[in-house]
Amino acid sequence: MVLDEEIQSEGQPVAYARVCAALEPLENSLAGIRLGILLAAPAYVAVAIFGSYLIVKKTLKPISFIIATAQSIEGGDLSRRINGVESADEVGELAGTFNEMLERLETAFRREKQFASDASHELRTPVAVISACVEDILEHPENLDPELRRSAEEIHTESRRMNAIITQLLMLTRGYEGQYHLEWEQLDLGDVIESVQEQMEGYAAEAGISLSSQVPAPIQLFGDQSLLTQMLLNLVENGIKYGKPGGFVQISARQEGAEAVLVVEDNGIGIPPDEHPLVFERFYRADRARDRSGSGLGLSIVKWIVQEHHGKISLKSEPKHGSAFEIRLPIGQA
Ligand code: ADP
Repeated sequence: MVLDEEIQSEGQPVAYARVCAALEPLENSLAGIRLGILLAAPAYVAVAIFGSYLIVKKTLKPISFIIATAQSIEGGDLSRRINGVESADEVGELAGTFNEMLERLETAFRREKQFASDASHELRTPVAVISACVEDILEHPENLDPELRRSAEEIHTESRRMNAIITQLLMLTRGYEGQYHLEWEQLDLGDVIESVQEQMEGYAAEAGISLSSQVPAPIQLFGDQSLLTQMLLNLVENGIKYGKPGGFVQISARQEGAEAVLVVEDNGIGIPPDEHPLVFERFYRADRARDRSGSGLGLSIVKWIVQEHHGKISLKSEPKHGSAFEIRLPIGQA
């Protein structure tokens, strides 16, 4: 590299200066740096990608907490909260808002359950009094005018139905409030099935339906005998109620590993696929079921009992062909 410079004195050039420097060492170092950058670039990119991944992962971790909490709420557990996301950024704010929303939802649900429970309690006595009074009136039917007798009989039937609904509603609300204390014991599932079969045989015969059971080997189960009996009674009663004359209801049970598998199957009117998730809802009754007795609470109670036993219930059904309810219960101590 060459630098020429004119040197002046009082505006007149007096000399020329030339400075020279060799560029080779500089170019050598520049080439070295270029090579260094080229070789190190992939490592820098890799570190940048890995660093970004770690940062994004850390930022999104609270979001996966929020997702997991939202998923656990699908199972009805509104007491869950998102913990450990107290940061002042948007994610922390989202978690806080989500927790507040859960708080409000939990309070609203608690109030709704409390209302159903209080209402059932309050209705219990008047309905029992109505039943008792009408039973008194019907004790001597011969003294009654036929029209009055028909009305009294109708009041009797309806008050008994109302009593049954109130009892079921109380059971459900107590269950949801966690006030129902299960009597856990070691029991034989075959005995439960046998007792349900005995209780329902008369009703099945009246409806012209054959009721049978199949339990190839004894199944020892840890559970609440009266609740499991109630669960099976509800399913068998439905099988008969929604069955066809000349049809069947079959209860079968088998053990699969650590699970007892209980199936109640009928060849009755069946349930259309779009109603499968609805039948377990409280007070849901299909329109075609309106002319048959019932409250729409039977399957909600079945589902609650299955949940209390940490089991699962599923339904396979086709309209006009029949329904099969399958219940899987862990046999061990819950
Ligand atoms: P309900 O008191 O009306 O029987 P449930 O909760 O027991 O109430 O059942 C809800 C609805 O599910 C019923 O109204 C009926 O439409 C349908 N269902 C239940 N079990 C059966 C079945 N075995 N076959 C056909 N439909 C059924």
